[in-house]
Amino acid sequence: MNFDRIKLNRRELLKASGAALIAAGTAGTTACSSNVKTEETPGIIGPDGKRVLPWSNWSGNQHCQPAQRLVPKNEDELAGILKTARQPIRCVGSGHSFSGLVPTDQTLLSLARLRGVENADLNTMEADVWAGTRLSQLGDKLWDQGMSVINMSDIDTQAFGGALATSTHGTGKDLGTISTQVKSLRIANSSGDILHCSATQNADLFNAARNNIGALGVVTQARIGTEKAYYLKEHSWMMSEEEGLERAAELRDAHRHYEMYALPHGDYMLGIAIDKIDPADIPEKPPVESGDAYEAFRTLANVVDYLPFLRGWLVNFGASGVEPETRYGPSHEIFGNLRDIRFNEMEYTVPAEVGPQCLREILHTIKKQNIPVVFPIEARYIKGDDVWLSPFYQRDGFSISCHNFHDKDYKKYFAAIEPIFWKYDGRPHWGKIHTLAAKEFAARYERFNDFLRIRAEMDPQGLFLNDHIRKVLGIV
Ligand SMILES: Cc1cc2nc3c(=O)[nH]c(=O)nc-3n(C[C@H](O)[C@H](O)[C@H](O)COP(=O)(O)OP(=O)(O)OC[C@H]3O[C@@H](n4cnc5c(N)ncnc54)[C@H](O)[C@@H]3O)c2cc1C
Repeated sequence: MNFDRIKLNRRELLKASGAALIAAGTAGTTACSSNVKTEETPGIIGPDGKRVLPWSNWSGNQHCQPAQRLVPKNEDELAGILKTARQPIRCVGSGHSFSGLVPTDQTLLSLARLRGVENADLNTMEADVWAGTRLSQLGDKLWDQGMSVINMSDIDTQAFGGALATSTHGTGKDLGTISTQVKSLRIANSSGDILHCSATQNADLFNAARNNIGALGVVTQARIGTEKAYYLKEHSWMMSEEEGLERAAELRDAHRHYEMYALPHGDYMLGIAIDKIDPADIPEKPPVESGDAYEAFRTLANVVDYLPFLRGWLVNFGASGVEPETRYGPSHEIFGNLRDIRFNEMEYTVPAEVGPQCLREILHTIKKQNIPVVFPIEARYIKGDDVWLSPFYQRDGFSISCHNFHDKDYKKYFAAIEPIFWKYDGRPHWGKIHTLAAKEFAARYERFNDFLRIRAEMDPQGLFLNDHIRKVLGIV
């Protein structure tokens, strides 16, 4: 094994570390395959005589067997479904949430046919986005019209309606979540009426619906604000953990987007800074991306798994081989990363000013308790907003995302760190793993009862509830 040859960039670091443990034979049975029925022909026969397949989320930690699946072709058909519904309905986007927002044994409804971007207007810098549109479908379409999205999450495979429902976010001290890009939206209530809301029309509904967790109704379309098309330069580099924590606020202020990946058990941290760039300043021959270190890092991570007492040393050894990397491209090409390693995730947002301190305590706890995790921890700054149930409601936030491979036990790890988030007044990401219930949410969100009021108006019969929504909203 020649570690001198290890040259990794940050995407390879994430990719290889995940693949390595799976390849090491730790994958065995996944959470999904161990729980979903394994008959030769999966699923059940639905009311229309057709087979209804079981559903599972992206990581496999959530699954269900719906009684029926519906995919309306347009708003009229959706309204008809809601008007005649006799059983609860849960909406699904692309199934990228780790919490129990989606599962139902009743009706699972997808807006996959209500997709596309319309009315992109360079004068107003606005565009209409159907809720079933994947975030990845926004980029090219807007670019063709001379426009770009303002900001984007780590990946872009979510449905717009799903991203909106949970305040999905990227990073940037002056940039809010995807929900804050929304100028107005259309949402169907449980009677099948389609309501229009914005900051000036049905404003309470607008403030609730921009982080709705699928509990108010079905969002069909949103008008979003955009920017003139722009290019980005992304630079990533490894530094010591101490430097990363010390300089976090300075680097945040110096860049349009800044995020960090801390390495559990290691002494290093990867910084990623992204800024707009004039296309004229993009080098004619952009630097070649560092070679594929998949095999080398796989070997490294295998050793970590089997020789846990060498974990810290090996992580540091691997990290010290990570080379700086610079990428250039149209905004949407730089924003969207591919995550082909499956993992489970807990994310809390703490007030921006205590973020590095909270991250330091988490890293210290992992070392002190010798928690068996090597998956990098992602930390991002996001601007505060006015959305009632947004983790960034009225405060600038620092989001800390802790992951473990989908086939590893994440529960002990997350149980050890969740109280640290509470100590720093953290608010969980609605789409990621947490253990909070309504009482704790009511204490964290001053407009929680207003959200409940709007929910009761939109859905008096409880059509859009499942067990998880009842728990987090406190509905008996
Ligand atoms: C690999 C990966 C990377 C991620 N990266 C980020 C990140 O960078 N930043 C971040 O903030 N989050 C991130 N997430 C979390 C993810 O963005 C959210 O969980 C998001 O809600 C998932 O969108 P979805 O389309 O998959 O929705 P689903 O998970 O399918 O559904 C989420 C919620 O949206 C509701 N919903 C969906 N469509 C509608 C609709 N039309 N009307 C009303 N309600 C609807 C559902 O009922 C449910 O409550 C990531 C997740 C994964 C798996």
